[in-house]
Amino acid sequence: MSETQQPGILVLSGPAGSGKTTVVNRLLSVSAVKLIKCVSATTRPSRPEEVDGSDYYFLSPEEFEQRREQEEFLECAEVHKSGYWYGTLKSEVKRARSENAWAFLEIDVQGALNVMQAYPQAVTVFLTTPTQDVYEQRLRKRGTETEDVIQRRLETAREELKYADRYRFCIVNDELDRTIGEINDILKSEEDVS
Ligand code: 5GP
Repeated sequence: MSETQQPGILVLSGPAGSGKTTVVNRLLSVSAVKLIKCVSATTRPSRPEEVDGSDYYFLSPEEFEQRREQEEFLECAEVHKSGYWYGTLKSEVKRARSENAWAFLEIDVQGALNVMQAYPQAVTVFLTTPTQDVYEQRLRKRGTETEDVIQRRLETAREELKYADRYRFCIVNDELDRTIGEINDILKSEEDVS
């Protein structure tokens, strides 16, 4: 990457159960390029272990709407038909860029499609598992969701899979180290050509 060029945007999506959170955390510690994870805003209530400003910016629906009207979001969407909104603040992408780092967005398919429109050159990665059964096993193993939520997430997973081919890269996450290796190779080659 030359000094005048900006680092890119990395978008990672994948249904619940695709192992996304583990991939995000590992990538942040062993990434081949400088990456900063953009903290999303959401109207969902925080879970006990979550920290405001670090896991998410937890906003009231009114504040979220106000910021949306003020065009503070790069993208935002109601996710998983949950009634809760999630969005990437433009200020978060700016924060990464000001540190000369890639902006790392872990967002759903609707959000990713919007980012692709705004930034066609973004590196977009869709994570999948070898079969739908593996999603279900992983979702159930977490043991944190009710049956109703699990069913909704499986339905969303089926929906999201339809969009996998819109992403520049689709990776079957059956082995963590290999997945991380593949993403790192992509990032290195993108950085070389940018
Ligand atoms: P959770 O509520 O389990 O933390 O996240 C639920 C879903 O919201 C995940 O699939 C995640 O990808 C998505 N998500 C998190 N942040 C954003 C965001 O800023 N924008 C969009 N569009 N989706 C997000």
